[in-house]
Amino acid sequence: MDLFELTLYELHTKLKSREVSSREATSAMLNRISASDARFNAFITVTPEKALADADAADKRIAAGEMSTLTGIPLALKDIFLTEGILTTCGSRILNNFIPPYSATSYEKLKEQGVVLLGKLNQDEFAMGSSNESSASGVVHNPWNTDCIPGGSSGGSAAAIAARQATATLGTDTGGSIRQPASHCGCVGLKPTYGRVSRYGVIAYASSLDQVGPLTRDVTDSAIMLQAIAGHDSKDSTSVNIAVPDYRAALTGDIKGLKIGLPKEYFIAGLDPDVQAAMDNTIATYRRLGAEFVDISLPHTDYAVATYYLIATAEASANLARYDGVRFGHRAEQTEGLLEMYSKSRSQGFGTEVKRRIMLGTYALSSGYYDAYYVKAQKVRTLIMRDFIQAFEGVDVILTPVAPTPAFKIGEKFNDPLQMYLSDIFTIPVNLAGTCAMSLPAGLSSNGLPIGVQLIAKPFGEETILRAAHAFEQATEWHTMKAPL
Ligand code: GLN
Repeated sequence: MDLFELTLYELHTKLKSREVSSREATSAMLNRISASDARFNAFITVTPEKALADADAADKRIAAGEMSTLTGIPLALKDIFLTEGILTTCGSRILNNFIPPYSATSYEKLKEQGVVLLGKLNQDEFAMGSSNESSASGVVHNPWNTDCIPGGSSGGSAAAIAARQATATLGTDTGGSIRQPASHCGCVGLKPTYGRVSRYGVIAYASSLDQVGPLTRDVTDSAIMLQAIAGHDSKDSTSVNIAVPDYRAALTGDIKGLKIGLPKEYFIAGLDPDVQAAMDNTIATYRRLGAEFVDISLPHTDYAVATYYLIATAEASANLARYDGVRFGHRAEQTEGLLEMYSKSRSQGFGTEVKRRIMLGTYALSSGYYDAYYVKAQKVRTLIMRDFIQAFEGVDVILTPVAPTPAFKIGEKFNDPLQMYLSDIFTIPVNLAGTCAMSLPAGLSSNGLPIGVQLIAKPFGEETILRAAHAFEQATEWHTMKAPL
């Protein structure tokens, strides 16, 4: 089997036994990227020299017997992660020349373990989108069908896994941006609990919702990646100081008696029949494995999308105020005076969707509308949180679809923001509640596109998700399906 086909754990085993070197695995990935990325556009920046230098350093560590599970593994990061000395654009023209002076904590943690950085992955501009069509670096094509979107905003992170261009990747999820592209590209995508992984050095979109997580080929790899990045960070005051469990130890295969909730609000009329079929099959599999199903209700689900688009845009309008052309990023030329310099730099640097959101958020925060919109949205957010707290009194996990449809065609929703926003109807409530969830491959549509299902657990219940997902994976073949090369 080609080295780029291996899971992280399989590659680790071969590195450990010295059957292959990190240089060989890294070269295989770099060749695969250069042979295929003209079709997918998953990468914004490829860093071949750094990758080979990282690989050689890893091979030395391995020879000295100092390896961890991640030593020598070729990874790639969404372009939202700051990487010292390496271009970091966040998919935006306004950062098209930005070389960060330091790196994100999550990347630092991976570096300590000796990973190889292949490059930076394409994404929607400032992580605003569900289709990876809003990137200043162009659309990403879904490896399963290049006429389709890969999902967003971590579209490059999901496409690179599906296209076998990286062994694992990191993405971020504010309203679904790890889970929805994972579902559309047939990979495992985990959004940890808010506070589980440091956000330090991750370009902020909506700070009370953003969270870092892995996209991988299977559940074991997801556990390995989460293990490496989880934990308290003194540089992020919202990261939580509670012990990080041994996530791989959670992969016991035993889910007898696990109580799974099915929220009635998520089984809406008009759900795509292929998505419904994937849900039905998943329920049948879990029943066979000894899980029990409970009908539950998350009564405020209907308000989640509206609530999210008030809170996320309000926070974005504040976070994006720093891009003014003064200290870094794009600066307009030939302007008269400071105000014109700000306004021209920002009009030239930001794309349409980002501008729309800055305006929406500024409006929601303006005096006169603050109480009517922003404060109201915060109250509804609390109700949505309570829905989950109540539900988890009776169940261990909640099972739902990830997205209402499989991947749609490029261009299909781009000019219809409301339709686009509805792509995240099943993922957004999890971010508002601050809890954790995973997208897990669980089906194939009639036209051959992957479909994921979502497992949600209570805050810091990642072990339960991993255990349930792993048991499903052991019993099914979905995670072994692959996009054509
Ligand atoms: N699609 C949602 C949005 O556009 C979620 C994006 C995300 O999770 N970063 O805001």
